[in-house]
Amino acid sequence: MAAIGRYGILAVILAAFSTFLLQNKHYDSKLEGVPSGKTRVLDLSYAINDKLVPWPGDEKFFEAKVNASVEKNGYFTRSFWMLEHYGTHLDAPAHFPPGKTTVDQIPVKQLFGPAVVIDVRAESDKDADYQLGTARVEDWEKRHGRIPEGAIVLLRTGWATRWPDARKYRNQDAQGKMHFPGFSLEAAKLLMERKVSGLGCDTLSIDHGASTDFAVHHLALGAGLYHLENLADMSEMPETSAFLIVAPIKLEGGSGGPVRVFALLP
Ligand SMILES: [Zn+2]
Repeated sequence: MAAIGRYGILAVILAAFSTFLLQNKHYDSKLEGVPSGKTRVLDLSYAINDKLVPWPGDEKFFEAKVNASVEKNGYFTRSFWMLEHYGTHLDAPAHFPPGKTTVDQIPVKQLFGPAVVIDVRAESDKDADYQLGTARVEDWEKRHGRIPEGAIVLLRTGWATRWPDARKYRNQDAQGKMHFPGFSLEAAKLLMERKVSGLGCDTLSIDHGASTDFAVHHLALGAGLYHLENLADMSEMPETSAFLIVAPIKLEGGSGGPVRVFALLP
């Protein structure tokens, strides 16, 4: 009996170890498959130019100047100026109180994680003021399992199809109030209980457009999460099993900044 027990334990340990190896192999091969094209990578960032949709009221947002040209100087360089929160960008915790971490201080491990995509295109089509509720998060978990710690949760509203048409993307009413979907405070609380690393969306803001208190910004950034805003078309993203690499500019003291977001597809 004792011997069987011991072998039983050994078998369990061996099984756990091989699962561990297989999982690592799975992740290794996903990364190793990038150069050969075996792993598809989606770039969820927009190219930066002066024709993107700025936040209402921002008058100057991007400028690029040629400093040296091949014709004149034999080489080509430019200088550029831009807002920290323009185009596809990351909000660092320091963007809203009580957050403190600036963009350069975000721990690197927080910038890598499994992508959880919550599809609310149908709801957003019907209601531009739609806010993701906890029921939809729980529904995702019923189908795919509990949201893993360190996940990056992306809200797919379909708003990217309106980009870069400022009128359609901001969707302002006669009073200038914007109307686009976002996370609700309750959903953000639930996701924070899951210990996710960040929240992202394909709109101008994590908070819905009509928000005046930016409640999700205060709560989530205050808890050390970051936000990804104006993410590009996510229509090819699976709801689960893609892996995200989030690479923001390492701007010392920055409240945020332009970010390159890569999704490694399964
Ligand atoms: Zn934001």
